[in-house]
Amino acid sequence: MKFYELDSVPADSMRYTGEYNAKRKWGLPGVHCPTCDSSWGGISEVYPSVDLSGLPEAKQLEKAWLEEDFEKFERLRAMVRPLVPAWARLTPGTGFGPLIGSARGNFAQLYMLYSWRVIIRRDALEQLQAEGLRGLKGCRTELRFRQRNAPELMELEMEQHGLYHPDCLPPGNNEPCKTCGGYDSGPSKQPMLDKASLPEHLDIFRLRDHHGVIVITERFADTLRRLGFEEYSLRELPVR
Ligand SMILES: [Zn+2]
Repeated sequence: MKFYELDSVPADSMRYTGEYNAKRKWGLPGVHCPTCDSSWGGISEVYPSVDLSGLPEAKQLEKAWLEEDFEKFERLRAMVRPLVPAWARLTPGTGFGPLIGSARGNFAQLYMLYSWRVIIRRDALEQLQAEGLRGLKGCRTELRFRQRNAPELMELEMEQHGLYHPDCLPPGNNEPCKTCGGYDSGPSKQPMLDKASLPEHLDIFRLRDHHGVIVITERFADTLRRLGFEEYSLRELPVR
């Protein structure tokens, strides 16, 4: 089985006019880690299906900030933990809830303006689900159109599994920070996947150590080609 990184295409080669402007409703703050001394917060770990509105503290998670007090960050994270899947890492900056905003134009089946986020038309999602591909969880968005014949746009929520192979990472860089869970950096050579870490029950997932990277199986890639999906790119990731 081959694996591919699913990615966007250069903006200047896009033929579709679709665009959107959106924010996510809730997020954990970024944080300064007392152990590795990094200040960080990503935007690629997301749970669009997770609704925090029942939490008394939800209001404070509506704004983005950098938390200097690591214990406070941990308290916020612990509060959210029961609401997310067991495999969730909950790194600083993790987002929750649907994308809220406006959209216009016409959209390709998959829309990947950002390589770490997959927006998909509902009809396209249903086509892929009918093919039996595993790991397709479509979540509603709150992207509002002011035009006729607007598509219904969904966002994919993907599980985090799989790691880069240690041989493609800089030396001494394979273990996440014990306190904040951060990894230092990505591959320093041709990216390669670690065979033992790859899930067998999914055709699409995010890498666990670099969750901005979306990986699909050969089966998924073949289906995209066969169904004539447009405006995405694939790069094979060798497995060892
Ligand atoms: Zn750290």
